[in-house]
Amino acid sequence: ESISVKDLASKLGREVSEVIKKLMLLGIMASINQEVDFETASILASEFGTSVEELPPEEDPTEIPEIEDDPKDLVYRHPVVTVMGHVDHGKTSLLDTIRQTNVTAQEAGGITQHIGAYQVMCQGKKIVFLDTPGHEAFTAMRARGAQVTDIAILVVAADDGVMPQTIEAINHAKSAQVPIIVAINKIDREGANPDRVKQQLSEHGLIPEDWGGDTIMVPVSAHKKTGLNELLEMVLLVAEMLDLKANPNRAAYGTIIEAKLDKGRGVVATVLVQKGTLRIGDSIIAGTAFGKVRAMINDRSEKVKKAEPSAPVEVLGLAEVPQAGDNLVAVDEKTARIVAEKRLAKKRTEEQKQSQKVSLDELFKQIQEGNLKDLNIIVKADVQGSIEALQQSLVNLQNKEVRVNIIHAGVGAINESDVMLASTSNGLIIGFNVRPDGNARKAAENENIDIRTYRVIYDAINDVEAAINGMLAPEL
Ligand code: GDP
Repeated sequence: ESISVKDLASKLGREVSEVIKKLMLLGIMASINQEVDFETASILASEFGTSVEELPPEEDPTEIPEIEDDPKDLVYRHPVVTVMGHVDHGKTSLLDTIRQTNVTAQEAGGITQHIGAYQVMCQGKKIVFLDTPGHEAFTAMRARGAQVTDIAILVVAADDGVMPQTIEAINHAKSAQVPIIVAINKIDREGANPDRVKQQLSEHGLIPEDWGGDTIMVPVSAHKKTGLNELLEMVLLVAEMLDLKANPNRAAYGTIIEAKLDKGRGVVATVLVQKGTLRIGDSIIAGTAFGKVRAMINDRSEKVKKAEPSAPVEVLGLAEVPQAGDNLVAVDEKTARIVAEKRLAKKRTEEQKQSQKVSLDELFKQIQEGNLKDLNIIVKADVQGSIEALQQSLVNLQNKEVRVNIIHAGVGAINESDVMLASTSNGLIIGFNVRPDGNARKAAENENIDIRTYRVIYDAINDVEAAINGMLAPEL
């Protein structure tokens, strides 16, 4: 999606200097090897009276291509709701009350089990609640690219008002472009002041409808069970406006809500199906885990044979525990296996990159790659005077690219705790007239920590300086 000035010039059949001149006229100072983005390239091409075409993005072997749905295949699906808000404002109570009054009462005798999500009925329509309250779960899933929530219910206690996590929740919902319905909770409490809550929320951009804004705010009490029906009706109203749709007649696509390893049942993953229908026997992949759907259980502990869009189900049959937020796709067995392998390989290299510890030999490489901005050093020496001299000289080596931090300095042999410190802080150890003891040596080997020992201060400083500047002779 970007091209160098040189390549662009040759593609356009022009001199590089001509292209650079045109770029300058567009206000872009570019050198011959500089990359320009697609937009710039196309503006430039039109300046020269031609056009450029964007290449289709290369297929990523760790991704399963998305199925495009024909709009005419889309049908209504139930809304999925997350409850957010400040701690102690009543998220859990609200979820519990809604569940009790709208599930158990109607499904007489039905024992609901916790599967991370449940469905309730209102006016003959279903609403799906994700029952891990709080925006942590919401953000964790979003961080993995998953968006499962259609509507956020923001719980604000009427006697406490807007608090820091209320504001966080508002910001999370806004950035995910998820509409917010406010539940002003605990209105049964003495000191409850819904108007004050409305006032405070208005200051954060949520203006109540009765004040001319467009945010629905419903006074409720989770304890007294008041306002809950109205709240659910409002959810359905907003859902209607969102015109939520999905195609149930295709391979399933969903998101892992939670997953665990159960002693008796193996890997148990709660999946929210978002598109298509998941069936027993489907071969599936989620993250690096794959397998076949062996059994499915809904939120009322009933075995089911299929799960349609917006249905949360427990899925048995994955070979490995996936992570919350992973997407789950039904795909043929071979693809599932191959893509899972590719993902695993990718994950391994990423992990390796992360665990790469600093060693003097590869210091410069890491600095150059921009992976290292702080060089953490632990200094051990035989006498205090040497420590001070070393410390000062080492810090003086820092430049614009790297900052040198002496994170620990002490008199005595290099011990295991020095190594552990180096390991957690990605640092290296310099010993002057001291050696590592046996435990330290073993730990350093395990943790992959570079320990350098010197008898001349100048040599130590020289080595670190050479490493920072990329001139360290490789160790033989
Ligand atoms: P969470 O941290 O947001 O999940 O809040 P909880 O549901 O744990 O509730 C915090 C406290 O507020 C608990 O002691 C609840 O009993 C109480 N609480 C929740 N809802 C109401 C309500 O509607 N009225 C009253 N009076 N107390 C409530």
